[in-house]
Parts: sequence; C-alpha cells; structure tokens
Amino acid sequence: MRMSSLFGRTLRETPADIDHPSLRLMMRAGLARFSAGAIVLLPIGTRILHRLATIAHEEFMRIGAQELHLPLFRPRTSPDRAQSRLLPPDSTLHCADQSGRSLAFAPTDASAIASLITGEIASYRQLPVLLYQMHPVYYGNRRSSWLREGVALTVYALDSSAVELETTSARVHSAVEHIFRRCDIRIVSVEGVPGDESAAAHTSVAISEHGDTEVMICESCGYAAVLEAARTAIDSMTAVSPARHEPDPLEEIATPNCATIADLARFCGVPESATAKAVFFDSPERGLIFAVIRGDRDINTQKLRLVTGVSTLTPAQPEQIAAIGAVAGYASPVGLSNRASGNVLIVADRSVIAGAPLIAGANRHGYHLRNVVYGRDWRADLVADIALAHAGDPCGKCGAPLQRTTGLAVGYTSHDSTLLPGTTFLDRDGMTRSAAVASFSIDLQRIILTIIEQHYDPSGMVWPSETSPFDIHLIRLGKQDATRQSADALYDELSAAGITVLYDDRDDTAGVKFNDADLIGVPLRLVLGDRFLSDGLVEIKQRATGVMTKTPRQEILATVRKVRPPLIPF
Ligand SMILES: [Zn+2]
Repeated sequence: MRMSSLFGRTLRETPADIDHPSLRLMMRAGLARFSAGAIVLLPIGTRILHRLATIAHEEFMRIGAQELHLPLFRPRTSPDRAQSRLLPPDSTLHCADQSGRSLAFAPTDASAIASLITGEIASYRQLPVLLYQMHPVYYGNRRSSWLREGVALTVYALDSSAVELETTSARVHSAVEHIFRRCDIRIVSVEGVPGDESAAAHTSVAISEHGDTEVMICESCGYAAVLEAARTAIDSMTAVSPARHEPDPLEEIATPNCATIADLARFCGVPESATAKAVFFDSPERGLIFAVIRGDRDINTQKLRLVTGVSTLTPAQPEQIAAIGAVAGYASPVGLSNRASGNVLIVADRSVIAGAPLIAGANRHGYHLRNVVYGRDWRADLVADIALAHAGDPCGKCGAPLQRTTGLAVGYTSHDSTLLPGTTFLDRDGMTRSAAVASFSIDLQRIILTIIEQHYDPSGMVWPSETSPFDIHLIRLGKQDATRQSADALYDELSAAGITVLYDDRDDTAGVKFNDADLIGVPLRLVLGDRFLSDGLVEIKQRATGVMTKTPRQEILATVRKVRPPLIPF
C-alpha cells in the first residue's frame, strides 16, 4: 500500500478530548477516527481487524469448527433463560422496522442455532459440533459509549450431554488461548455472571486502568471476578463483633437533616457500619423490593435481581414507598404499618442480621431508631448476600483481602450445563434428547486496543509481528529518479513475494517519515535513499529493539524472510 494514496493521514497533535491511550495512538497514526461518538476503523486499522480475524479463523478451523452466518435480527420475543444466557450481558438491542414490527438485534441468538441443530442433527453420532460466526456486537451499559460496538467471533460448542460438552469446550478454550497468545496479550479469566448456578460464565479481561469492567482480584489465591460477581467471606467479618449481652431496647432519636447515611453517622458520632441502609426498587415480577444492607455497604443489583428472581430492577417511585408506610430518607423495615398488605418484598443482606445493633430509620421524618436488632425488632422475607464487594473484603475462597481494579473485557464465555431447548436428537439408547451448548465470544476491536496498550513506547505503537497491519514499512528518501525507480522495484518485488508492505513514497522529509514509521509501529523498517545508488545498501531497522543493519539489495528478500517469516496474505 502506497502512503501517497493512503486514506487516513497521521496527525501531529493528539486529539484533546480522547483520554484512552490506545485510541489516541490509533487516531494519531491514522488507524482510526471518531465519528458520532463511535470508532471508525480506517484502512490500516481495518487491516489489523482482518489480521486478527485470520488468526481466529485459523485457530477455530484447527479445532474443527465450521463457519456460518446467522441473521442479525430476530422478531422480538422474550428469550427464555437458557437462550439469554448465551448472550453477553446487555447485548440485546430493540428496534422496530418500517411496518412497526418489533425486532431484536441479537446476532448470537441461540434460537437460531437451536432450529439449525434440529434440522441437521438427527443422531448422537453427528455430535459434537463446533460452529462459529463473525458478527457485529453491541454492549449496553458501558461506561464509555465508544466501546458499545464491536466486531466479535462467537463459537458454539454442541454436544450430547453436559459431561461430554466439558471436553468439547476445553478444545474451544485452548483455541481462544492460542489466539490471545498469537496476539501477544496478557488476559485474565474472571468469573462473570453472579449466582446463576446452571451457567458458568467467564469474562476474559485485559487488566487496564482504562478498562470499562470493574474486577476484584485476590493476589493470594488467584481468584478473580467481575465486581458484580465477586464472592466475599463477608459473614466472618460481620461476626467479629457479636452482641455479648442482651441489647438495649429500641430508642427513637431525633436526627434532623440526616437523610443520608453519611449525615446520620456524623450526627450520631458512629461509623457508617453502625447504621442500616434502606434501598427501594421496582420490579415487573415482584413489584416493590425493599433491600436492607449495612450503611457502609452497597447493594449489588445483579445479586439482588437473581435472588429475587426478577428480570429488571429500577428505582422505586416515591408513591410506592409511601404506600407501604415507609418514609424515604428515614425508612427502615422496623414497624412498617402497611407491610402486611403483601405489596413489598423485604430482602436483608447478611451484613444486617449479625453483629452489633444498628441505627435504622424510624419511618418518621427527622427520626431514627437506635439499638435495632434483627430477629427481635424486624424480620426480612428473604436473607441473602446482596452486597457489592469492596476492596479489602475477605476473598470468598481464601480470606485474603480482595483488590479492586479495572480491565477491558475482550471475551465472554457462557458454559451452560442445561440443555438447549428446541434441539432434539436420538442418543445411544434411541431416546430423544436435547443438545448441551456452550458459547465463546472474542471481540476483535477490544483485542486491538489491548495489543496497543500492551505494546507501545514513547514514539508510538510496536506491533507484535502476527498482528501488524504490514510486514514491512518501506521508506524512500531522496528525490532522484533512479532512487525512486529502485524503491518502486523493491516494493514490487516484496509484494510479489507475498510480503505486505506499507510504502512511504511521499515527498516528505526524512524526519516526518521516520516519525510516522515509529508511530505506526510496523515490525521492520526498510530505508532506501539516494546513497543506495552508490553503495547498493538498504537499511533495516527493527521497531521493537531499534537494532539497525545495512544489507545489500540482492539479499533483502532473504534477510526479511529470516527476520520475519511471511504471513498468509489476505
Ligand atoms: Zn483468595
């Protein structure tokens, strides 16, 4: 590719409003632009995307996976639980077509796979089956809106039973690990969806301070989970201060202007952990849900959603809270006058049922209750772990303090031990059964960001050879016609040999060209200048090490091949 006609130029200045270092480099190097709040991959960026796709295709084909293409949209129906589990969280988008028909953007919809399997697989002898597809992907609820879209590859592993699926899934796992290794990126596998026992979901995360996924990790035993899924041994923490004697009776105290936990703790001169926090949610299935947790903790809405069996949780309306006799800002489950109406489900986190008495709301504006004891003064309909993990919480596996960090999610695994509904085949005994299914997704755009973040220096990007947009960055210096012809001939010869070349044939200064080459970061840089006409030597510089050598023209092809074996052209 000739730089003189390349669409997308390098930028001297870093765009001021971009704070992600990888994206900043991509924009400066002319790999990407920003349009309407989303990433646009320019030609060089798109070449990298294809390079990654080639690596993924090779690894998936190596394990016997076969590619297909599924529709992006399906008529909108509520997917059943097994189907929705195959989707990355918040990945479904709803829309309507011209005739008002309701559609869902669901490129990895399991019902499409299920109907295919039903038509094609009649016997256990045809299993296992590995299918995969490349597709656009959408992630809702992302902190950075420009990370909401991506290009993903998803593999579906289907087998005759959950036990056999384990072996088949291990093959996919190893293929995905190979892809990450060939991209030369460090990835951590962390637990994904919390509490859902029939699905073992994992997220592949590149630890990064610029990531959009919060992760809890234990350096002691290696346990890692996304924040909402992190399991802590918080029970043992709450048990450290048990009441040694019969607690004092309830006492109502005036607490003017104390509608927040921080105000209340300050006013009473106690730590926030000595208070109880009341949080109200609305849900389609159970109506009002009243969650109670210790004042220093936060509700994990994912855990709460799962323990209550509801599909969504939204903040409750003031009239819903008033209807059960609670007073917002001063609410507690103690003595709720209208509780018997059955219009509320009270859920207590484990942190409020053990330990010292707490200060809780009095359901009266400007007043709280002191010495509130669970079991004596109130009871919940449901007691569960609904707390969000905090840094320093004891690890659920080994008890060492957990650390909170962030990462960029580059892959998602849903390994479902239940069966894919709608699929039927005849097993060994001639009985009709459903297939077991697992899915594995990787996001190529996020892998590009991760490669850059893990491979750059002050001058620019440093591409690992397998993922580089080109094998060679050829620079022509000097303006003599003979030099130009020599450089053109070298470009043609390398290209004909299957080596991909970015050819800087522009009439810019050496400084501009060298800076651009360092910025774009192709592994090998070749320089051919006017001096070549007298000495016949071409300069070769390795981007990663800075090592520079001079090689006779006739040995260039062999030298390049020695340093860098040719990739499969695409
Ligand atoms: Zn641990």
